[in-house]
Amino acid sequence: MPARAPEPPWRDGTGPRPGPAGRIPAPGPVVQRDMNGLAGWAVQSQNIQTRGYGPHAGSLSEHPVTDDRSADHLPDTEPPVKQVAEASLPTAHGTFRIHVFESRLDGATHVALVCGDLGDGERVLARVHSSCVTGDIFHSSRCDCGQQLELAMRRVAQEGRGVVLYLFQEGRGIGLANKIRAYALQEQGRDTVEANEQLGFDADMRDYTSAVHMFRLLGVKSLRLMSNNPRKLEGVTDGALAIVERVPLEVSPSENNRRYLKTKKDKLGHKLSKV
Ligand SMILES: [Zn+2]
Repeated sequence: MPARAPEPPWRDGTGPRPGPAGRIPAPGPVVQRDMNGLAGWAVQSQNIQTRGYGPHAGSLSEHPVTDDRSADHLPDTEPPVKQVAEASLPTAHGTFRIHVFESRLDGATHVALVCGDLGDGERVLARVHSSCVTGDIFHSSRCDCGQQLELAMRRVAQEGRGVVLYLFQEGRGIGLANKIRAYALQEQGRDTVEANEQLGFDADMRDYTSAVHMFRLLGVKSLRLMSNNPRKLEGVTDGALAIVERVPLEVSPSENNRRYLKTKKDKLGHKLSKV
């Protein structure tokens, strides 16, 4: 039996990530990112506008990932993510089309769940969700991720039109192992931000470059973004993708996640009314 080509590795954010200019920085103990994320977005926004690829142009073209994954080696007309698979996905909340994207920069795999016909791409109800193995798969009550994901899928399905992006960047970008190390520090009394910083990471290492390009490839032009995090708004409003509304996505706090949610509100600026 012929050997199957291996699946791309599941990247959980532990490897090198593209910097603000789309380059993968040299390996080091900590990948420093601009804390407010705006510098990276500004550069990215220029790239989107000057590259000028259409909503569907090039989305299925095969540009091989080479060993040198610097963005400089990609043709200007090609976005840094490409769609590699698509199928129907019936779920408990409704039927979606699942689109799988692969980053040309770091090989990471990301997912878009699309409900209905996105039509002109305007005012699309959307969620940008970063992976959380403990919350999304094991329904951990340490965080609100799993419930937020379910709620977002339900709302999109109810509306009959929208997109849920699922980005594989675990633990606000620090990777699963480091996230669990942070949990261990939290058991000793640190909060989620202090724990990340004690491990040598910024409070939030996530990168939304792929998300912007995935939306563009799906033909989305403006979003009603389901998020309690105003930084996500700031990040994309400067670009070719407009955020026309922020739709709160708040779940009721539990005994186990109340402190976590309070930290997100107090230290990370999330708009949460229930804690
Ligand atoms: Zn979580």
